[in-house]
Amino acid sequence: MAESPVKAFVCGHPVAHSRSPLIHRHWLASHRINGTYEAVDVAPEDFASFLRSIGEAGFRGGNVTIPHKEAAFSLVDDADDAASKIGAINTVWIDNNRLIGTNTDWSGFAANLDAAASDWDRVESAMILGAGGAARAILYALIKRGVPDIRIVNRTRERADALAEEFSTSSASRITVFDWSSLTNALRDAEMLINTTSIGMDGNESEVPDLEPLSSAALITDIVYVPLETPLLKAARRRELKVVDGLGMLLHQAVPGFEKWFGVRPDVTAELRNLVIADMDNGQ
Ligand code: NAP
Repeated sequence: MAESPVKAFVCGHPVAHSRSPLIHRHWLASHRINGTYEAVDVAPEDFASFLRSIGEAGFRGGNVTIPHKEAAFSLVDDADDAASKIGAINTVWIDNNRLIGTNTDWSGFAANLDAAASDWDRVESAMILGAGGAARAILYALIKRGVPDIRIVNRTRERADALAEEFSTSSASRITVFDWSSLTNALRDAEMLINTTSIGMDGNESEVPDLEPLSSAALITDIVYVPLETPLLKAARRRELKVVDGLGMLLHQAVPGFEKWFGVRPDVTAELRNLVIADMDNGQ
């Protein structure tokens, strides 16, 4: 009898926009793996029962996306250091009947920069714009890679204060919060700027900060990848600064999950990137 396929999923609400099926199915096909990867729309009130019954449903594991990442953290049997510090889980798997979770947003962010701008983590100072869920993962990555001077600016200052306070206790990095109105000061001589806010998702350039105070060798990255060339990245290119877009983070964060469920560590290739860009261009 033929072996049944290994099953994995992405669950979110809504989930139709997720590009994870495209990514994982591409890897399943290119590695000729007998597996499936499906998108499951799960409403918040159904999420706990969904996650608790993935083993019975025959899944080996899956991805968890908005709005379930924080809930997943409170539901797993075990979470690693990254997930515990970030307080959110985007990748789960079953091991000996236990549900295990991790967060691969931080490692996807770091791996993308490793591939596109090696030595990025030798910067002395970096500024994070935003203090939401994704900013937590980026802050974890910067601390993990030993960036000494980390600055955070968020529209809602209290959120940035809380984030800095929480991470400062377990970090050798100096984490400083600036007011939204002091953005220029926060950018002064910074060697890296990471946007984690939805600024620019509508293509509006008027909200882009003035990049003049940045170091001329600064690296600019945006984790927003729709549009791929955000207004921030456009402005940075005009100033001839180094630029890395956010699509690579999405591709790289998918690698550890695929390896866990299907047993093969896949590569992030230009072919995969082009596949996702073509899908985005089709407005899917
Ligand atoms: P979130 O928790 O809702 O946080 C949103 C952040 O954006 C907050 O800091 C918020 O500030 C700020 N913000 C929203 N609208 C703003 C505006 N008009 N002006 C200034 N600041 C504004 O969202 P998230 O989970 O962190 O995700 C943020 C973005 O990252 C999303 O677009 C998401 O798709 C993207 N992302 C990409 C990847 C990837 O793989 N490339 C991975 C994860 C997330 P306040 O605190 O003041 O509201």
